[in-house]
Amino acid sequence: MIKSSTIKLKRVALLGVSITILLFGLLHYGRSGEFFRSSTRKNSLGLQGLDRHITPASHPLIFGKTLQPVKRYLPEDVYISLRTTQVYHTSRLSLLLLTWLQALPADQLHIVTDGLQNNSVVKMLTSEGYNVTVSSCPQNHKRASLCCKTGVEFSLYYRVMENYSWFCHLDDDMYLNTKVLAKYLANHNHNLSWYIGYYPLAAGKPFELDSYRLKSIKNPKRTKFSFATGGTYCISRPLLRKLINFFNGNNFEATCNQFMLTDDMIIGMVIEVILGFNLTDVSNIKTHLQSLSNIKPADLVNLISVSYGGKNNRIKLPQEIKNDTSGFLSYHCLLYPEVKWCSQPNAASTR
Ligand code: UDP
Ligand code: MN
Repeated sequence: MIKSSTIKLKRVALLGVSITILLFGLLHYGRSGEFFRSSTRKNSLGLQGLDRHITPASHPLIFGKTLQPVKRYLPEDVYISLRTTQVYHTSRLSLLLLTWLQALPADQLHIVTDGLQNNSVVKMLTSEGYNVTVSSCPQNHKRASLCCKTGVEFSLYYRVMENYSWFCHLDDDMYLNTKVLAKYLANHNHNLSWYIGYYPLAAGKPFELDSYRLKSIKNPKRTKFSFATGGTYCISRPLLRKLINFFNGNNFEATCNQFMLTDDMIIGMVIEVILGFNLTDVSNIKTHLQSLSNIKPADLVNLISVSYGGKNNRIKLPQEIKNDTSGFLSYHCLLYPEVKWCSQPNAASTR
């Protein structure tokens, strides 16, 4: 009796020690990253791996695809500001992180959002070195709320104005082709005043300012103006300085609300009517206000930026990635075929 219970005790002790060693081993393995890295658990957002610790050796997955930096290049005097909202962190922002955000140096991009819902994407962005500002602007698509957010972008421009020559704004439903932007800006003298973008209203027909608004402007330089669509525009430093001087003590948001125009129209109105400079209207910025499906692949590679609209309004490519509702995955693969997930089985042509 005594003997058998001693053996039992020994067995229990041995089992206890083994379990401890096993648990310790698993914990240690987990801390070194391998254990968590091998997990393919999907979180509630349907994205894989977003809440895991990120090390350079273990790029996490988005939509089941590994983040893969491509040749990160943008002249170091170009600053990119990206506007988003918390409800689009998962659907829009993560798509950009997987694609064109991998093609520019992280410290040259500044994201302005309005909350920390879907925070895992924001965490991932900051750990990859992108700057994220959470504004206290209202979280909706109203004119005044977007003016508030653009005002935050301008105050960030002001902070870093001396460090850059070009300041470009992008909405979160745009794909920025950094190669084409770099080439385009290199052909323009950054010491001059440039306002570059796509005028979305009828070509050659500038927007006419009504007499009520016109009356509140001292010595207007003109009565009609063009403006760049809020999807993408770039401003050179000399012009930005003049704009910011104008907004000082009369800040962007206040001007926006005084004139009751959208943020993109306000920028155009101040530049053209008040300061007397012109929009350089470019045709290789494409927004969802245009028909996108008939742009030829040869032209697609020359776009500065492109967007997507409803289900049927998106660019079409010879090689399509499966379930690519925006067209951005397929476009990224056209520009950077070296990306591994472009040639993985689910990247097969669906057309
Ligand atoms: N946006 C925002 N808050 C919202 C909705 C949209 O800040 O509640 C941002 C969005 O992230 C995008 C821009 O405003 O950068 C334009 O939004 P969207 O593309 O949805 O509409 P559009 O004005 O182009 O029709
Ligand atoms: Mn849009």
